[in-house]
Amino acid sequence: MPSVHETTLEIDLGALTHNYKYLSSKLAKGVKLMGVVKAFGYGSESAEIAKKLSELGVSYFAVAYTKEGVALRDAGITEPILVLHPQSINFEEIIESCLEPSIYSEFVLREFIKTAEKLGLKNYPIHLKLNTGLNRLGFIDPELNTVFDYLGKSDAVKVRSIFSHLAASEDWREREFTLQQLGKFRKMVFRLFENLNYKPFLHISNTSAVINYPEAAFDMVRCGIGLYGFGNDEKINEKLKPIGTLKTIISQIHEIAIGESVGYNRAFTATKKTMTATLPIGHADGINRQYGNGRAGVFIKDQYAPIIGNVCMDMLMIDITGIDCKEGDEVIIFGGPQHATVFAAKGNTISYELITGISQRVKRVIIEE
Ligand SMILES: *Cc1c(COP(=O)(O)O)cnc(C)c1O
Repeated sequence: MPSVHETTLEIDLGALTHNYKYLSSKLAKGVKLMGVVKAFGYGSESAEIAKKLSELGVSYFAVAYTKEGVALRDAGITEPILVLHPQSINFEEIIESCLEPSIYSEFVLREFIKTAEKLGLKNYPIHLKLNTGLNRLGFIDPELNTVFDYLGKSDAVKVRSIFSHLAASEDWREREFTLQQLGKFRKMVFRLFENLNYKPFLHISNTSAVINYPEAAFDMVRCGIGLYGFGNDEKINEKLKPIGTLKTIISQIHEIAIGESVGYNRAFTATKKTMTATLPIGHADGINRQYGNGRAGVFIKDQYAPIIGNVCMDMLMIDITGIDCKEGDEVIIFGGPQHATVFAAKGNTISYELITGISQRVKRVIIEE
């Protein structure tokens, strides 16, 4: 591993390969894995991740927003890309960049058909999103007749896939609810198959469903968090390797006398002689104030150093009393000795929020296999 000279998020493509292989091993033959690379590849680097996944055999990608899909096209990604949450204002751009929209409401269906017809398109691929209980996006059963009406009247679009999203696939206490969602999905798909004279492919599983509901894999699964090395469960976490390590360095060391304070609002006051280090990372980099005042800490040479006082915008201070270290030494925020899930929990959050929140100001370094 290279040593750092500034705050750096290292992205380990070997770990990505490991995670991809692990998730693939859970899939029956013929089931495809869609690589979910939204939000900068869960805060890593979407184009590099997509390129590596494509090398490994991933042939479909998903992003949340149009802009993210356009960025992948600009980076040379040629595989089909599903845009999970487009808005009507994006439709021409979606078509120009050969992106494929999720169609989740009557309004979106009508407007997309209008745009496709205006551009003289035939059979442009769309993906129908069904709401089976998450109540976030998608058509419910009684709305399907309207969908049939629109699709029957226009050949500008063609349904390439039908999909839905699970609300609690990681939670065994919600097993009943998840099975209900799967039942609704099958029922609505049956109606769609009856009405369309072709069979779009089907998908509903996210990472946790790949592990917990193998019977729900259908034709494809949509994996995000698992590819990045997290499994919503300690046992699965053990099988996966987080791809990201967030590192920084010690900018300056101070000796704080009894009664002196450190940082804004004087939130820390020394009750004994204390050695502190200032690190060039703060809440503008994604380490928010929740982690301050001793709630979380970092690692220097495998020794734990708690964050003291309030996290500042661009810096934070740690207590290094008793740790043998000097200015310029490497500090690990998460990864290595500190699993990001453990760090996230100290800030009352989950790995998803922590890793996607590492701001674009932090340098990304790709570690090739
Ligand atoms: C983000 C997202 C996924 C990926 O979920 P993970 O839990 O990260 O695997 C799949 N499907 C949809 C609709 C999503 O929004």
